[in-house]
Amino acid sequence: MRYKYDVVIIGVGSAGMIAGEVAAKMGVKAALAERHRVGGDCLWTGCVPSKALLASAKAAHTMRNADKYGLAPAEIEPGTASVWRRIRDIQQEIAATDDNPDKYAELGVDLLWGDAAFDGEHRIRVGERVLTSKYALVCTGSRPAAPALEGLAETGYLTSENIFELERAPRSLIIIGGGPIGVEMAQAMNRLGVKTTVLQRAGRILERDEPALSGILLEKLRGEGVDVQLSAELMSAERQGGEKVVRGRVGGEDKLWSAEEVLVAAGRTPNIDSLGLESVGIKTGRAGLSLTTSSARVPAGSMPPGTVPDGTCSRTARPPRPSPHCGICSSRGQPALRKSSPGLHLRTRSLLTLE
Ligand SMILES: Cc1cc2nc3c(=O)[nH]c(=O)nc-3n(C[C@H](O)[C@H](O)[C@H](O)COP(=O)(O)OP(=O)(O)OC[C@H]3O[C@@H](n4cnc5c(N)ncnc54)[C@H](O)[C@@H]3O)c2cc1C
Repeated sequence: MRYKYDVVIIGVGSAGMIAGEVAAKMGVKAALAERHRVGGDCLWTGCVPSKALLASAKAAHTMRNADKYGLAPAEIEPGTASVWRRIRDIQQEIAATDDNPDKYAELGVDLLWGDAAFDGEHRIRVGERVLTSKYALVCTGSRPAAPALEGLAETGYLTSENIFELERAPRSLIIIGGGPIGVEMAQAMNRLGVKTTVLQRAGRILERDEPALSGILLEKLRGEGVDVQLSAELMSAERQGGEKVVRGRVGGEDKLWSAEEVLVAAGRTPNIDSLGLESVGIKTGRAGLSLTTSSARVPAGSMPPGTVPDGTCSRTARPPRPSPHCGICSSRGQPALRKSSPGLHLRTRSLLTLE
């Protein structure tokens, strides 16, 4: 059977962008399908805005501690609207250059807009169109998971999806989650003058990292004034006057924290629910595609089941780590796109069969 494309890449975030470029360099007939905007999390809600925010926060911290450098210290004005404007300017600059969707036309890769989903074997629906393709590459990323905390939805909260769209920083912030996103946001916000509390369920921050390092960082954060609560068992959230209140327990004691805003940074959920994966026999689990290594043709070790949905950022000169949600589906169980062009290596973590 002949297909219109060799590969359809679903999702044009870091993983899909690099895959599209690699496919073009390999002379593979490829299409990209995106439902929102080119650049994905990294450009719009992840690495770029968070690192821009951290850079401003570091500058504020240096100004405040300028006496270390033999200069007069200066306190920044509270009110950080210009910091938020700067983030958006940087995003727009990247969107118009590195992540400009027009580059795909120049590369000979079709870029199609719309929600993409499998529509049977070798068929992928993008909006109203149905494409046929030998392979499909799922690069749909993840989104913030919402903790099951009574009253939280009604109280309202921020996540990485909308915090960078604020006009200014809140005066005070409760961050639920002491993982990488929670911790970096805590440092940035606190340095920008926001009274910041981190509520971490585990007994330490960054629990997947080296304990000694997380200890050093905890000391640093607390030393700079972040209120970090470890082993916090959260019960409920509510509004009280103009504040948002979170109730919980720490060390058997009832606690109440209040702030202008709550940021939830408590894990990620893979974007796979609307992909129609069942129509091509691909199983899913909480951590994303449920991959097995049972196919004899799949290279051993290439498909750890239950991968963590943290993805990767390809804005580096180094070969990118594959995104856990970037799986190449081969029509015959054959590894697809295994070769990599010089300088741009696409390692596929997952190779799965459509048939
Ligand atoms: C606050 C924060 C800070 C971060 N900081 C860093 C950092 O400093 N360094 C780093 O390396 N990583 C960082 N990350 C992680 C990084 O942003 C992600 O790992 C990376 O963006 C994942 O890329 P991806 O292509 O797999 O997914 P995404 O970037 O999420 O892209 C997925 C794309 O698929 C599209 N899509 C989803 N479903 C469909 C569908 N059905 N049809 C069509 N399109 C669809 C989405 O619209 C999106 O554009 C950070 C993340 C966050 C949230």
